[in-house]
Amino acid sequence: MEQFKSTHGADDHPVMIAADAALALVRAHTPTLPARDVALDAAAGAVAAATVRAPGPLQPFDNSAMDGYAVRAGELAGATDADPVRLPLRGHTAAGPVVAERAPDTPGAWEIMTGAPVPAGFDAVVPVERTARDGDAVVFTAPPEAGANIRRAGEDYAAGDPVVDAGDWLTPERMMALHAHGVATLAVRRAPRVAVIATGAELVSDPGRALRPGEIRDSNRPYLVDWLRAAGITVSHAVTVGDDPAVFARELDAALATGPDVVLTSGAVSAGVHDFIPAALLAAGATIRFHKAQIRPAKPLLFATLPGGAACFGLPGNPLSVAVGLRFFATACLRTLWGLPPERFARARLANAWRKPEAMTFYGKGRINTDDDGRLVATMLDGQQSFRIRPLTQANGWIVLPPGEHEVAAGRVVEVASLDADWRR
Ligand code: AMP
Ligand code: MG
Repeated sequence: MEQFKSTHGADDHPVMIAADAALALVRAHTPTLPARDVALDAAAGAVAAATVRAPGPLQPFDNSAMDGYAVRAGELAGATDADPVRLPLRGHTAAGPVVAERAPDTPGAWEIMTGAPVPAGFDAVVPVERTARDGDAVVFTAPPEAGANIRRAGEDYAAGDPVVDAGDWLTPERMMALHAHGVATLAVRRAPRVAVIATGAELVSDPGRALRPGEIRDSNRPYLVDWLRAAGITVSHAVTVGDDPAVFARELDAALATGPDVVLTSGAVSAGVHDFIPAALLAAGATIRFHKAQIRPAKPLLFATLPGGAACFGLPGNPLSVAVGLRFFATACLRTLWGLPPERFARARLANAWRKPEAMTFYGKGRINTDDDGRLVATMLDGQQSFRIRPLTQANGWIVLPPGEHEVAAGRVVEVASLDADWRR
């Protein structure tokens, strides 16, 4: 396999490294954020740092699943349309704070509402729709099965069952479970804080300003900020600067003053005359862990540790290089900060054969859908060059083609990834 010489810094890692090795370095040089106890109301969107166990059973007590009548099933044996059974009405319980009731010793039915505690001794609830009233009696035309329409205490969770596990992202669904249990405080890791610095003398960030010759719109900074925010990450600082290392150095200081766990830069990290990022980071005291990886797009990707410990990704400026660096490499760092295990990607059959440089891991824009047999199929879209934004807007996922293959055959099973951060995987 051909080896490539790096042209910048990173003297301890002079050779372009494989995607897996790059990811290993990212994980090895990223700390995990400390756990801290927070009130339940402040936990949404954080990651659980420890297992939370059910403090009691859920449901907390036997209760009715329907509006209807609590009965003893045995008292309705033999009830039919032609020969209904009449039971005297003995009481009424609505959902709410009520004194625990007991079924009377004599036969009878008990009016009960959904969620109300079932008086001890009754063993079924008959929905009101299947009954009729006849004065003080309730008329039943069929016997219920024992246990029908009663939600038993602990049927969902027994006391001590895990409600969330360490590493679970606290989604609205998991928050629902924690609220249902009344968990008052729990140990979480907060969302990572990320600072974004886009570079490029050609960039215009104000959409209201006309472009002068040679200028382009700045799309990377807004993309990074929007993607991170949508992923539940805190963006502590975001700025676009030119190609002046002194200005960059000032902006890096300003970014670091916001206490980021990660700094993302865009542009100026490859082999151009103005690609000052590696030197500027070294001048700022950074340790470069790798620079250039056998990946496409984003080959000039740089990863460093800044003084004070923040991780830093130098993302190449092409829009697709930014997207790949963020989705596959910065995300590995964010997962480590959050205490999440490495992401496991789904697999799909490649629909169309694809050629790529043999040594490279290729991250392609794709459409991932099921075929008629319910199997996932990944179709690589046209227009995979790293400057093209349009296919990214048409894609619904990434297709990862592994190194060591030049022509990846149709039908080959490959990894596929969501476009957004999928913290549940
Ligand atoms: P660079 O990595 O700085 O050499 O930039 C590579 C390519 O990406 C160039 O064509 C840049 O004009 C373009 N580019 C750099 N930064 C941005 C940005 N923030 N938004 C859109 N395109 C950019
Ligand atoms: Mg540039």
